[in-house]
Amino acid sequence: MEIPSFTISEEQLVSLKGKVIIITGGSSGIGLATTKLLLKLGAKVVVGDIDPPPTDVLVPELSFVRVDVTVWEDLLSLFNNARDTHGQIDHVFVNAGIASSTNYVELDVNDQGNPLPATTRTIDINLIGMINTASLAIHYMKQQENGGSIVMTSSLAGLGPIGMVDYATSKHGIIGFMRGLLSHLHPSLPIRINAITPSWTISGLATQKLVNMVGITAQPAEFVAPTVAIAMADESRHGQLLYSGKGEYKEIERPIV
Ligand code: NAD
Repeated sequence: MEIPSFTISEEQLVSLKGKVIIITGGSSGIGLATTKLLLKLGAKVVVGDIDPPPTDVLVPELSFVRVDVTVWEDLLSLFNNARDTHGQIDHVFVNAGIASSTNYVELDVNDQGNPLPATTRTIDINLIGMINTASLAIHYMKQQENGGSIVMTSSLAGLGPIGMVDYATSKHGIIGFMRGLLSHLHPSLPIRINAITPSWTISGLATQKLVNMVGITAQPAEFVAPTVAIAMADESRHGQLLYSGKGEYKEIERPIV
C-alpha cells in the first residue's frame, strides 16, 4: 500500500498564533524542538517536565511547571496553571517519555521484589502517564466551546518489530489508546486526537553517542516538531498517525471515524 507523503509550510501553521499549548517533556529533545517552533509561531507554551527548559528558550510566552507525569496531582497543577494563567487550553502535546528494555528470556523470576522495575517505570511514564495527561486534556477541552486537540508521541516502535520490548509495548499502547478513543470523541465532542510516529531522533533519550553505537542514522529533533504543529493546526486531521523521518512526512493512517 502506498503511504502518502506530505509537506508542511509555515503558512499552514499560522493559526497557532496566540494558541495556548501544553507540552509534557518540553524541556528536551522532540518536546523542546516543538516548544521552540510553537513559540516562533506565536503560541503560548506551558511546559510540564521534571526538568526546566534550557535558559536560552525562556521568554514571557513560555511558562514551566515542574511535573512528574506519573503523579496525578502534578498533572492537575499543570492543567490548572495553564487554564488559570491563560483562560483556555487549545492543544496538548502528550510527549514525556523514557526508554527501557527488559530481557524477558533471561528474566530471574526468583528475584526479590518487583522483577520488572524497568518495565513498570516505562509503562508508568509512557503509557499510564500519557493516558492520564490525555484524560485531563479531554476533561478541560470538553468544557470549552471550541474543544481542542491532542497530539500523542508514539514511535515507529509502536508500529513494527523492535528489540526494545518495554518501550515498544508502551508505544503500541499509545496507538491502541488513540484508536479506541476515536469512537468516544467523534462526532459529539469538538476534540481531535492524533499521534506522531517519529523514526530515530537525536535527543536526551537517543543521544548522538547511542545512535553511533547502534550504527543507525537519526534525524534532528527539529524535523519532528512540524508534524506536531500540523496535527494541531490542520483541523481535518483526526485519528491520524503522522510519521517523520529525516525530513520526510507521511500520513500512515487516516481512519474513517
Ligand atoms: P528526551 O529525553 O530528550 O525528552 C524526554 C523529556 O521527557 C525530557 O525533557 C524529560 O525530562 C521528560 N520526562 C521524562 N520522564 C518524565 C516524567 N516522569 N515526568 C515529566 N517529564 C518527564 O527524549 P525524546 O526522544 O525527545 O523523547 C520525547 C518523546 O519522543 C518520548 O515519548 C519518546 O518515546 C518519543 N520518541 C523518541 C524517538 C527518538 O528516537 N528519540 C523516536 C520516536 C519517539
